[in-house]
Amino acid sequence: MFRKNSFSGGTHPHDEKQWSSAKAIEIMPLPETVIIPIQQHIGAPSDLIVEKGQTVKKGQALSSSSKFVSVPVHASISGTIKAIEQRPHPLGANLLSVVIESDGEDSWISDFKEEPDYFELDVQQMKQRIADAGVAGMGGAAFPSHVKLSPPEDKNIDTLILNGVECEPFLTADHRIMLERPDEIIKGMRLIMKILKIDTGYIGIEANKPDAIALLKEKVNKETGIEVVVLEVKYPQGAEKQLIKASTNRDVPAGKLPMEIGCVVQNVGTAVAIYEAVAMQKPLIERVVTVTGTSIHEPKNLLARIGTPFSELIACCGGMKDNTAKIVNGGPMMGMAQLTDAVPVIKGTSGILVLDEKTANMQEENPCIACARCVDVCPMKLLPNHIASYVEYNKFDKANELGIFDCMECGTCSFICPAKRHLVHYIKLGKALINEQKKAV
Ligand code: SF4
Ligand code: SF4
Repeated sequence: MFRKNSFSGGTHPHDEKQWSSAKAIEIMPLPETVIIPIQQHIGAPSDLIVEKGQTVKKGQALSSSSKFVSVPVHASISGTIKAIEQRPHPLGANLLSVVIESDGEDSWISDFKEEPDYFELDVQQMKQRIADAGVAGMGGAAFPSHVKLSPPEDKNIDTLILNGVECEPFLTADHRIMLERPDEIIKGMRLIMKILKIDTGYIGIEANKPDAIALLKEKVNKETGIEVVVLEVKYPQGAEKQLIKASTNRDVPAGKLPMEIGCVVQNVGTAVAIYEAVAMQKPLIERVVTVTGTSIHEPKNLLARIGTPFSELIACCGGMKDNTAKIVNGGPMMGMAQLTDAVPVIKGTSGILVLDEKTANMQEENPCIACARCVDVCPMKLLPNHIASYVEYNKFDKANELGIFDCMECGTCSFICPAKRHLVHYIKLGKALINEQKKAV
């Protein structure tokens, strides 16, 4: 079915998926060294349980989580821990990381096979396996999945939405997962629905992926309670609130979570990781990463070990062209520019974008011409021009009054702005400074 319901605002950047959408997932060669940050998720850091000089096997836990909103990390290769030190992290700053040098054997700590009766486990056992495997949202936000699957008793959850939208231009990792691992997606989806005790699930996919839509529709034909929803191609269709609106016509109130209106959203790649965690007790040690952009020689979708440096993925794609201006972790709208290609792939790394100067949109910003285009496109119905100006002139209370914390940093306003105002930059800065002021009180 085609849902005409969409969301207000949004924009239509060229999707740029032609570079890599037809490239089957390629398994990367074994890296010589991996750099595994202890924190890759939203929430409390996990606690280190290994030391320098120790040998580890692939899949062995490097940390444990004593807090609920936290997940452990695992060795993604077998070898020796050469260092435990601060290393550059793709989300900024330096963070404590375990550096493992490969022994070349790539040997697992255990034999991870599907258990025949995994679907009969009780819900608590399932959630414990998901937590132990270190599963965190793989669409980019990296929120611990077992927490998302544990809504408070008073929340009446009735709908799961699996996010296969992948609305960020250039990225095609989720598209390839849907084409190449549809059965695991559906098994993961069934597990999530069992854990949440619900009978209704949607798989939301943008209309620009007709092959994935056709395949998943065929797969869910035999399933009860699961439906593929074809969505308008519009950015940011894959943002949680916009996806829920387009799929169910429900509105998540400002400042609230999807659970308030009975919905849970999970990414399609996360569904595969949940299936592997529950059915095989397999930890999350690898993910599909789209390496693409105008300045990469051969765009690809790579299955990369967590901890592999960006430089190795770029090399695996023939390297960068001479006109490279920017390397981005993620897509062009919400991704973060990197200072170095030595940062590692983490659980939320959906793409590595290598851009030339023209595409990187690095023009100088000009004064606002008050055209209000940013207001028209904001899917959260904010006033990005005014919020950014208030931040620029240190009027944080005014920015707060205008709902700066409701901004999901989707980048639509900056994209549309004819003056090239760095609106999201000001908004992110404003949030950070307001939070600092709150802490200081
Ligand atoms: S103000 Fe925030 S939510 Fe609105 S378009 Fe800009 S980045 Fe997106
Ligand atoms: S789109 Fe840019 S120029 Fe137009 S009102 Fe917004 S900030 Fe000003």
